[in-house]
Amino acid sequence: MADLTLRHVKKSYGKVDIIKGVSLDIKHGEFVVFVGPSGCGKSTLLRMVAGLEDISSGTIAIGDRVVNDLQPKDRSIAMVFQSYALFPHMTVRENVAFGLMIAGDSKEVQDKKVAEAARMLKLEPLLDRKPSQLSGGQRQRVAIGRAIVRTPEVFLFDEPLSNLDAALRVGTRAEIAKLHREIGATMVYVTHDQVEAMTLADRIVVLDAGHVRQFGAPMELYHNPDNMFVAGFIGSPKMNFIPVEAKSSGKATGVGVAGDNLRGVDVRVDAAKVTKGEKLSLGVRPEHVNIVKDGKGLASGVVQLLERLGNQTFLEVELANGQSITSLMEGDHVLAIGDKVAISFDAGNCHLFDSSGEALPRHQKKNK
Ligand code: ADP
Ligand code: MG
Repeated sequence: MADLTLRHVKKSYGKVDIIKGVSLDIKHGEFVVFVGPSGCGKSTLLRMVAGLEDISSGTIAIGDRVVNDLQPKDRSIAMVFQSYALFPHMTVRENVAFGLMIAGDSKEVQDKKVAEAARMLKLEPLLDRKPSQLSGGQRQRVAIGRAIVRTPEVFLFDEPLSNLDAALRVGTRAEIAKLHREIGATMVYVTHDQVEAMTLADRIVVLDAGHVRQFGAPMELYHNPDNMFVAGFIGSPKMNFIPVEAKSSGKATGVGVAGDNLRGVDVRVDAAKVTKGEKLSLGVRPEHVNIVKDGKGLASGVVQLLERLGNQTFLEVELANGQSITSLMEGDHVLAIGDKVAISFDAGNCHLFDSSGEALPRHQKKNK
């Protein structure tokens, strides 16, 4: 069983700490995605698992084996990069078989494994072509094929789709998901794209400046983010954050909050840790903000930006204090820029964060 275990893993370049103590338990067969903004350390962490970077401290284990001191080739991993790095003078067949040839596999074994990979990745019609005769998506499938034939215990992907155009990204993403279902290997996949993360992952690791901010299933991150970083990073368009003050506390079932322009809302969080007058941030996702008649809502404002797509309406409303609130509503809504409107949302869809950005524990709603 190839569980992948990281314990207090750190990495520094000189005096600069890049990975600041990461511990993760990735189960055999899991598809785990590392997501986070550019420069947060995703590639560095993945390359440490691969053995392409030294570990400053901590341990990495694949199954029962601590692999800290093993060469990449001895770790039973295969890595797929953003740049496909295919041999231009070799055919697809030769590219896919290359690692097997180097490992000394017989021609018969090579043919069998290449045929199997080609079937899974729909490369059969392309086997005799050279990389220059392939599209970007096809080249990336060849690179994945090269990884598959080595039957590693752990697959590592570093932004494998970011060189592809939007349509190909969606198609190749679906193929990677299918591949994972078919071969059931442990996969660790790096991306800065939260849609890729949400659609592919069994569990997501959200990284921020070398720290794990949350490790959980996509819907857990969406419904119950641990902090403002995760709340703001997961979900598109981004969650709105409204500065508020606690008006009441001590009620077991919730905290009453109100803001500059915001009428009172009772949010169902654990009130025990909140003191009256405490400054908090209220988080509400655009898909939970509705536009209602002026005067009827929780806050009034003016429509500043409007995108009517027919199936959805996206808008930005500027409140009197200058704060912009975004709303994403299903269907078409007859509105115009400059309209005076009010916003409204259910307290049940609100999150509260303390001044350090940590979420106040919510009363759990059942997530389907
Ligand atoms: P990500 O993949 O999340 O975009 P990286 O893991 O590539 O981020 O980089 C994390 C940080 O480490 C960045 O600030 C980057 O500049 C720094 N870094 C990466 N490689 C080196 C290196 N060889 N020497 C010094 N700093 C590096
Ligand atoms: Mg990277």
